[in-house]
Amino acid sequence: MTPTKAVKQLAFLGLGAIGRPMAAHLARSYRLTVWNRTAARATEFAAAHHAQAARTPREAVSGAEVVLTCLPTSAEVEALLDGPEGILAGLASGALFLDCTSGDPESAQRIGVRLAKAGVAFADCPVSGGTNGAEAGTLTVMVGADAATFERAQPILAAFGKRIEHLGPVGAGSALKAVNNALLATHILAFGEGFVALAKAGVPAQKALEVLNASSGRSFVSEGLVPDRVLTGAYPKTFRLALLDKDIGIAVRFFESQGIAAPLLSRASQLMHEARATLGEDADYLEAIRLQETRAGVAIRAS
Ligand code: NDP
Repeated sequence: MTPTKAVKQLAFLGLGAIGRPMAAHLARSYRLTVWNRTAARATEFAAAHHAQAARTPREAVSGAEVVLTCLPTSAEVEALLDGPEGILAGLASGALFLDCTSGDPESAQRIGVRLAKAGVAFADCPVSGGTNGAEAGTLTVMVGADAATFERAQPILAAFGKRIEHLGPVGAGSALKAVNNALLATHILAFGEGFVALAKAGVPAQKALEVLNASSGRSFVSEGLVPDRVLTGAYPKTFRLALLDKDIGIAVRFFESQGIAAPLLSRASQLMHEARATLGEDADYLEAIRLQETRAGVAIRAS
């Protein structure tokens, strides 16, 4: 009888809006232990996906060959490393740590150095494609790592990723993700400005959108998001505006670190920050457009 290849033991920490469907894909191919700050979410996930729920980060990563995190910011990832119940207390030398948080490049580098001292390989691997992409297993994964770590990471990331790209050393994935989301935020704000003006002028939104999407001003926002989420007025909650504000803030700090003046994206960052202050921590990112609608006294809807 041919011996079967041992199934890897993985740990996933952070079962939020996007972490949960990513972890669900991993549970289909690997032995998986999950941890979540709100323990009930981990227990519920474990019951639904044949995974184990751990009580602490240390317990989750004990015996794991690969650890994945997906938390709001790098600060939460760094905070989980320390303490008697922290990740470093349980992680074995030789393990691989993949941080799928949309973090910042400097923190990623700092985390990488700390883990290297513990004999653990690290890659920052933020994802793009939204909760729909996570559920479909078609995320784009932007990886910062050395070449050997990328090789090890690729088959794991393929469980939820379709396009998995190595962009450079640790930090490179986070830098690209921040730039991507800075552009996303800008497209959202710019679309809202243009379309509330059109609505006010009485141009029908549905037809205007169809024409835009056959013209040169179209974007992922106008093609992929506005039809089902804005024109319908549905505004589902899939990605917190607070996280997009965090991302464009990372991008602005990244531009500063490179000595690049970025007046347009800096202004978009201020506007997104103001929207966060007005709408709160739980608002969806497209509610920035709803705020523009409210301020203009119009709605961008299919009539
Ligand atoms: P959510 O806000 O839905 O979930 C955040 C997760 O982090 C939850 O599991 C939450 O636990 C946990 N968490 C929050 N604070 C802490 C803390 N202090 N210590 C430990 N755990 C904590 O975020 P998302 O899942 O949407 O996003 C996760 C990351 O993925 C972010 O960096 C985001 O920018 C990125 N991302 C999200 C996308 C999306 O479409 N949602 C798309 C692409 C990237 P608890 O359950 O207890 O609240």
